[in-house]
Amino acid sequence: MASHPNFLQQVDRMFAKAAALTDHADGLLAQISICNSVYKMEFPLVRDDGSIEVIKAWRAEHSHHKLPTKGGIRFDLSVNEDEVAALATLMTYKCAIVNVPFGGGKGGIKIKRSDYSDAELERITRRYTFELFNKSFIGPGTDVPAPDYGSSAREMAWIMDTYRTLSDDPLSAQACVTGKPIAQGGVRGRTEATGLGVFFGIRECVSFEEDMQRRGLTSGIEGKTVVVQGLGNVGYHAAKYMQEGGATLVGLAEYEGAIHNPEGLDLEAVMAHRKSTGSILNFPGATNIEESAKALELECDILIPAALEGVITKDNAARIQAKIIGEAANGPVTADADAILLEKNVLILPDVFLNAGGVTVSYFEWLKNLSHVRFGRLSKRFEQASNERIVKALAAAMQVDIPSDEMMRLTAGADEVDLVYSGLEETMAVAYQETRETAHAKDTDLRTAAFINAINKVAVTYSEMGIFP
Ligand code: NAD
Repeated sequence: MASHPNFLQQVDRMFAKAAALTDHADGLLAQISICNSVYKMEFPLVRDDGSIEVIKAWRAEHSHHKLPTKGGIRFDLSVNEDEVAALATLMTYKCAIVNVPFGGGKGGIKIKRSDYSDAELERITRRYTFELFNKSFIGPGTDVPAPDYGSSAREMAWIMDTYRTLSDDPLSAQACVTGKPIAQGGVRGRTEATGLGVFFGIRECVSFEEDMQRRGLTSGIEGKTVVVQGLGNVGYHAAKYMQEGGATLVGLAEYEGAIHNPEGLDLEAVMAHRKSTGSILNFPGATNIEESAKALELECDILIPAALEGVITKDNAARIQAKIIGEAANGPVTADADAILLEKNVLILPDVFLNAGGVTVSYFEWLKNLSHVRFGRLSKRFEQASNERIVKALAAAMQVDIPSDEMMRLTAGADEVDLVYSGLEETMAVAYQETRETAHAKDTDLRTAAFINAINKVAVTYSEMGIFP
C-alpha cells in the first residue's frame, strides 16, 4: 500500500515546488528550509494520586533569521517531533507572508488533556515552562509561545507567571507568551482574530473582478453562498463576519452532522439551537446531512474548512463544487487534492496566508507588552477632540445640526480593539495583494506564490546579515 507523506514531508514538498521558482543558491534554500533547533524533553509529573508519570514534550525553533521565534503549544496525544517541526516550519513562512517580524516556532506536550485534572495540567505547564527557561527556549526576545490545539489563555497565564518568577527582567517578562487573558496583558481582539483575518483575506480576494469573472462569479462578499465546516473559534468567527458582510451561509458542518438550506441559515439561531439541543441537526427549515463531511461537497461559491487537517483528499476533491476554498484550518487540503482542485480552476486561499490573523494579533500583543501601554490610550481623546472640531466646523459651514449620538459616532477616537482590527485588516489585505502579484508574475497558484514570497523574505534577511552573498 502506498504510504501518504507525513505533515513535514508535505510542507517540504510545498517548499520545493516554490523554491524551484526562485533563483536562490541551493545552500541558502537548505538553510531556509531546515529546522534550526528542536528541544526534546521528558520530565516527571506527580499525579494527584501520588504516582509519577513521565511526560514527553518538544519545542521546535524552525528559523532564527528573525527573533523571537513564535508559535503555539499543542497539548495532544498525537504530538510528535515531526509534527512540531512541520508546524514550526509553517510558522516561519506564515510570519513572513504577513510581514510579522518573527521566526517560526512550535511546541507540543504529548498528553490527552482530558485525562488530567486542572491541578495536574498546571503542574505540567509550569514544569514545561521551567524546562524551556533552563535551555533558553523561551523569552520575549528568544521564543514566544501562544495557545494552540488543547491550550488556552489560562495555560498562557501559567507560562507567564512561571517565566516571571525565573526571569531577571521583570519589566518585559509579560511579553514571553501571547494569547493571555486581557487582565494578564492580553490584547483585545485576539479571540476573534483568526476568523476575522479569514474574512478580511477572503474579502480582499473576491474584490478582484477579473479573478472572479474567471470563475463565473461577481466581485464582493455580498450574495456569495458559503459553507463552513467546524463552528469552533475560527469557524464560528469566520462564518459570523461572512454573514455580517452580506454572504449567505447555505451549509454548516460540525462533527455530529451538517445542515443545508439554500435560502440561508442564521448563524446565531443555529448556535442557540445547538446549545439547547446539543446538535446542529434538526434546525428548523434546514435539511440534515447525517454524514457531516458530505457538506464539503455542497454547491456554494466559497467553502471554508475550519475544523481539521486532511478533510479534502484525492477521494472527494473531484466532487467539490465550491469555486473558492478558504483554508481557515491548518492543512485541510492534501497535496493530491490540491492538484485536482487547481485543475478544476478552484481558487484556493492557502492556510499559510488565510489563518495568519492569530499570529498577527499575537504580534500586536507582544508590542503592547513591551511598550506597557494599551493601544489607543494616548491618542483616543486627542483624536476625538480633533474630529469634533472638524465636524463642528463643517456643520457650521453647511448650516446643519448634528444630533449628539451622530456626533459621537462621527468623532469617536480609536480604542484598542479598533486599532487591532484595523492593523489586522491592513495586514491581510497587503499580504493578499503581494501573494496575488507573485502568482501572476510566476504564473502559479496562490499557495506556491505565498511560499515564494516567504522564501524571498527570509533570504533577504540572511543576505542582509552577510551570511549568504
Ligand atoms: P476549535 O477546537 O475551537 O474548533 C474546531 C471545531 O471543529 C469544533 O467546534 C469541533 O467540534 C469541530 N469539528 C471537529 N471535528 C469535526 C468534523 N469532523 N466535522 C466538522 N466539524 C468538526 O479549534 P479552532 O481554534 O477553531 O481551530 C480550527 C482550525 O484552525 C485548526 O486547524 C487550527 O489549527 C486552525 N487555526 C486556529 C487558529 C486559532 O487562532 N484558533 C489559528 C490558526 C489556525
